[in-house]
Amino acid sequence: MEFRDLGAQYASMKTEMDEAILATVAAGRYIGGSPVTELERRLADYVGVRHCVTCANGTDALQLALMAWGVGPGDAVFVPDFTFFSTGEVVAAVGATPVFVDVDERTFNMDPASLHGAYDHVVAHTDLRPRAAAPVDLFGLPADFDQLLPLCRELGLLVLEDGAQGFGGSLDGVRACSFGDVATTSFFPAKPLGCYGDGGAVFTDDDGWAARIRSLAVHGKGDGKYDNVRVGMNSRLDTLQAAILGVKLSAFEAHEVADVNERATWYGTLLTEAALALPEVPANSRSSWAQYTVRLPEGCDRDALQDALRAEGIPTMVYYPRPMHEQPAFAGACLCPDGCPTTVRLCATVLSLPMGPYLTREDAEQVATSLMRLLEFTS
Ligand SMILES: *Cc1c(COP(=O)(O)O)cnc(C)c1O
Repeated sequence: MEFRDLGAQYASMKTEMDEAILATVAAGRYIGGSPVTELERRLADYVGVRHCVTCANGTDALQLALMAWGVGPGDAVFVPDFTFFSTGEVVAAVGATPVFVDVDERTFNMDPASLHGAYDHVVAHTDLRPRAAAPVDLFGLPADFDQLLPLCRELGLLVLEDGAQGFGGSLDGVRACSFGDVATTSFFPAKPLGCYGDGGAVFTDDDGWAARIRSLAVHGKGDGKYDNVRVGMNSRLDTLQAAILGVKLSAFEAHEVADVNERATWYGTLLTEAALALPEVPANSRSSWAQYTVRLPEGCDRDALQDALRAEGIPTMVYYPRPMHEQPAFAGACLCPDGCPTTVRLCATVLSLPMGPYLTREDAEQVATSLMRLLEFTS
């Protein structure tokens, strides 16, 4: 079985997809054009914000937001310790200092108390200027914005929502990628809404930031193409990827988010082993299930368990094996005021299972049966 079955997805939409791809190739325009502008309109409407600016990938999307805000040397940006490398990487890439913050054990998302503590530490013990927080919608679940947004307002921090995994989730009926002052997502193939290569997008309600991000994404262009008013990047979504996403977004809206939630419910009823901690979704939230991540009992030999599952044809992944503050790339160039003990524990115990809207009932049952049986031998 596949960890995430992109082949089954293609098979389910082959006719429309082939038509969209061939029509784009035949039209002869490969950068920009109506597939891109139409997709941006649809994405902004889906999320519920005024502006969507597509770009080359989810990492660039984050960096474009920081560049638009002028975040740079001497600035502190608060990033969860438990996330994909990009969230911290872009902070360092613009010359600012990533300050790593712990997460909640049950939701895997940024812990507001740890954020407050890290902010106090930066103010009391460093010369850095606290500028922004970058909560991540990890594994598809929107971060705790009910707590984080008022806290960030109080602390004077801009909010950059990293929705690379969160697209399609919601909080009190409000869609992910609309909570941050600026929010971003990724269309990497394995994300909830993926294309057939790299892609990303930035979302905001702010007209000024949207215009600056649009300029930064195309070499800091001004009114004309060869009028460069700032130093930017070359970060665009290919026309072909926009056409592909147009087809995929229709399926995403029509049934995929509902289907992946049904599969989470299957796992919830099939995985009855008490030693396993299942992912929790707060009552007011909906996840888009970028990953289905369980917590193994402490002391479980995770490597042996993964090997045994692989031998039975079941692929699993460890997202993430290492806290951000322990990444060699950040050595001496980051802060981690409270040591993030929850993240350290999660990195040792998490395991992500095969998931996605095309996971079959049979495969979900096999995953659950094998995992529960093998746990007895590896714990
Ligand atoms: C995938 C991911 C990114 C980066 O997206 P790319 O499109 O691969 O550059 C950023 N943040 C998080 C949390 C991600 O999972």
